[in-house]
Amino acid sequence: MRVLVTGGAGYIGSHTVVELLTHGHEVIIIDDLSNSKKEVLNRIQTITQKVPTFYQGQVQDEPFLTQIFTTHSIDAVIHFAGYKAVGESVEKPLKYFENNLLSTIVLLRVMEQFNVHKLVFSSSATVYGTPTKMPLTEEDPIGGTTNPYGATKFMNELIIKDYCVAHPEMAATMLRYFNPIGAHVSGLIGEDPQGIPNNLMPFITQVAIGKRPELNVFGNDYPTRDGTGIRDYIHVVDLALGHVASLETMQQNKGYVVFNLGTGKGTSVLELVAAFEQANGVKIPLRIQPRRSGDIAENYADCTKSKHELGWVATRSLIDACRDSWRWQSKNPKGYNQ
Ligand code: NAD
Ligand code: UDP
Repeated sequence: MRVLVTGGAGYIGSHTVVELLTHGHEVIIIDDLSNSKKEVLNRIQTITQKVPTFYQGQVQDEPFLTQIFTTHSIDAVIHFAGYKAVGESVEKPLKYFENNLLSTIVLLRVMEQFNVHKLVFSSSATVYGTPTKMPLTEEDPIGGTTNPYGATKFMNELIIKDYCVAHPEMAATMLRYFNPIGAHVSGLIGEDPQGIPNNLMPFITQVAIGKRPELNVFGNDYPTRDGTGIRDYIHVVDLALGHVASLETMQQNKGYVVFNLGTGKGTSVLELVAAFEQANGVKIPLRIQPRRSGDIAENYADCTKSKHELGWVATRSLIDACRDSWRWQSKNPKGYNQ
């Protein structure tokens, strides 16, 4: 297939581009480089020996997007582009609503104009809000999101769902990611956060490399086995392969469909730190801090539906992910800014 990948220079997008190219698909990337670097394209080429077509610009720039659909006969779109920093979204809600919603609306409008009927959307476990039971299935209620970023994911799902009602020819797959970690095994591409990382794994790797003195553990008084928060950490390459599986099963999975992409297994903050230390033989000093506002105690996926309907399961272990995250960080101490 000829696949348009919005946000394809980002963390999950770049790993997905590698897997798409490896599986014989043709890729066209659109990215405004607001949270990524052009260097990632050279790295993708080194890994795959293939060159993805790249356009720098914003998805919501309709003339720009229309030009790309005119130039290339697109079969399917994977829509990763969006802002994702929860804290920033609380401070700048309009920035998040504008970018994350407008990009989807314009994308759907242009897809409609060019009769493109296949869409995969990057959703998130955050749409489940504050869940009352675990593990989470796709049938669990959504909404009740706790920040503007989460609200944009929920609202995007609604927009796409209603679009599908009006367009029965559509195949639109919402992939609800749990917590992506890890990097490509080559150590050539990985997560490259700007400034102080919000997420746990990049913070751990920055402590390991000596960029930060210690890890702040946000709360050890949750009702979990060791008191720290539990999440479902999924290797980013497994996640990328979930996108390939989604595209390749779209013929069967017509209409509006939703899948959880996780491992089905919960891991606490202290367990992740222990796995990282074991995998890499490095010590991570830590300090217990108060809970971070808006955090929930635990969150992990039931992935039965993905297994049966996508034929997809996560196969990489937590140790693999810890090793790959560290390989990426230690080979690229400054990320793509070498
Ligand atoms: P990322 O920031 O690394 O990648 C997003 C890319 O989109 C960046 O390269 C950025 O420059 C680009 N971008 C942003 N707005 C754009 C626009 N309007 N037009 C063109 N390009 C634009 O983030 P990621 O971690 O790879 O996440 C990809 C998607 O998955 C996002 O939609 C994110 O919300 C979602 N998601 C991520 C996580 C996670 O923990 N990383 C979890 C759940 C869902
Ligand atoms: N966390 C932590 N220290 C950090 C970052 C995160 O203790 O520096 C905890 C956080 O409270 C949560 C888990 O690690 O329990 C995963 O947080 P992350 O921000 O990576 O993902 P989230 O699930 O919140 O999107």
